[in-house]
Amino acid sequence: MEKSLVIIGAGIAGLAAGCYGRMNGYSTTIFELHDKPGGLCTSWQRRGYTFDGCLHWLVGSAPGNDFYRIWQELGAVQGRKMVDHEEFVRIEGAAGKTLIVYTDIDRLERHLLELAPADRKTILEFSRAVRRFARLSMRLDKPSELYTWRDTLDMLRRVRPYAYSLWKYGKTSVQEFAQKFTDPFLRETFPLVFELPDFPMLAMLMTLAWMHEKSSGYPVGGSLEFSRAIERRYLTLAGELRYRARVEKILVEDHRAVGVRLADGSEHRGDFVISAADGHATLFQMLQGKYGDEKVRGYYRKLPIFDPIIQVTAGVGVDLSAAPHAVMYPLPEPVTIAGREQKRIGVMHYGFDPTLAPPGKSVLKVMFPADYDYWKKLGENRELYEDEKEKISDQVVGLLEQRFPQIRGKVEVVDVATPLTYERYTGNWRGSMEGWMITTRSLFLQMKKTLAGLENFYQIGQWVQPGGGVPPAALSGREVIQIICHREGKSFQTSLPAA
Ligand SMILES: Cc1cc2nc3c(=O)[nH]c(=O)nc-3n(C[C@H](O)[C@H](O)[C@H](O)COP(=O)(O)OP(=O)(O)OC[C@H]3O[C@@H](n4cnc5c(N)ncnc54)[C@H](O)[C@@H]3O)c2cc1C
Repeated sequence: MEKSLVIIGAGIAGLAAGCYGRMNGYSTTIFELHDKPGGLCTSWQRRGYTFDGCLHWLVGSAPGNDFYRIWQELGAVQGRKMVDHEEFVRIEGAAGKTLIVYTDIDRLERHLLELAPADRKTILEFSRAVRRFARLSMRLDKPSELYTWRDTLDMLRRVRPYAYSLWKYGKTSVQEFAQKFTDPFLRETFPLVFELPDFPMLAMLMTLAWMHEKSSGYPVGGSLEFSRAIERRYLTLAGELRYRARVEKILVEDHRAVGVRLADGSEHRGDFVISAADGHATLFQMLQGKYGDEKVRGYYRKLPIFDPIIQVTAGVGVDLSAAPHAVMYPLPEPVTIAGREQKRIGVMHYGFDPTLAPPGKSVLKVMFPADYDYWKKLGENRELYEDEKEKISDQVVGLLEQRFPQIRGKVEVVDVATPLTYERYTGNWRGSMEGWMITTRSLFLQMKKTLAGLENFYQIGQWVQPGGGVPPAALSGREVIQIICHREGKSFQTSLPAA
């Protein structure tokens, strides 16, 4: 008889675990609190527009990247057009100059040398590092938990030529690296390319390397369509998926996870329980804080998480596709948005994806980091909460009209998503957009998928993969099934969807 897996959450991690579970002969049921797949990897409809809430780039979007095979196995990339942008982002400085972060590293190198010839040495160090990391192949065939000494040796052999660079750029933040430039404009704008505290230079170099290789494109159709493709793959593999099924408790007998209890009181049993839901809720609510060692608890006390965001998205009756798709610029006057002063704004349009807006129209998107506690308090009073959202909508439309005067009077719909929106729809702790923040300290952190004291339970997804992201989420879903197969003495199988 097939052994059974109970999976909590139909985000990318949960869907991936479901697919690989089915490929390996397990009976699988995914319980998802929402009525659709994807979790954070989602989009939503507003008056004929699709507003996207996630994928700006998908690592592994093209053959040649190690992740591509995984997306093929999950049926996520077949027949899907990918857009490889020529520009990652444009950043305008206070004095009117613009840094254009071209995705082609040769072009970016020329542009940087034109902007700051005196910084030739630092610029060449940067572009050489991007080219170098473009050749780095990662080992994704098995999880480190299952490495034999041969695998470890093989891994060391692969990374040896990169060891010094990995260490050096893993320990240097983008902000620190920017200090090497003597040019004031590059010192001002370079750290804004990834405006996150203590963001490792290595993560920036890798991201640009993948873009240079054209293997980190945007999937046309948007994030929900992407998630739906994996949902289809799962259902074709005869997996069971229950929507509007909130798990409240993980059932434990003799320190073994044996199933889940849903909010409606029903209980569902299985041989293994895999949580692909928020890590904090899993640990402290579903398992009532009874399992996991001090190390795991310490993460939740000490490690920084990605701030939640406010996303303002607008549908406008104007074709903006000729404009650069992503631009960040200083505001003439700082504005206070939801209690935080903003001196700059980053705007993107989705003119590169014609499926998201009716012909001749465009979607514009602005995101701001937000303060969870501010919103939590506001959320206690529905009226104040709605007023704040309306105020933000007016503020942002005003700012967009300054930049794009042609949209005046043509803004057809505006949507404001707050940290409470993310919390409500995905259950993520403090509305976090991506789990553990990737910093120079957490970059190489390996988190366990198991909890001390509890058998037959695994945690996957962005709360055991610092830095989050859709590819690590899918990978953790694949790896957990490899681990379970290994435990059961089965050889791990994968398949590709029928053409
Ligand atoms: C604005 C934004 C932009 C991003 N851009 C990118 C990008 O360009 N590239 C990239 O790779 N990544 C990006 N990410 C990050 C990426 O979306 C996430 O890291 C990834 O989707 C996390 O997947 P997950 O399956 O681990 O978790 P989640 O997506 O959080 O899925 C968890 C699932 O569990 C469900 N759930 C929670 N609690 C329960 C419960 N009690 N019972 C049942 N179900 C439950 C939730 O509803 C959800 O469906 C972005 C994220 C955001 C918000």
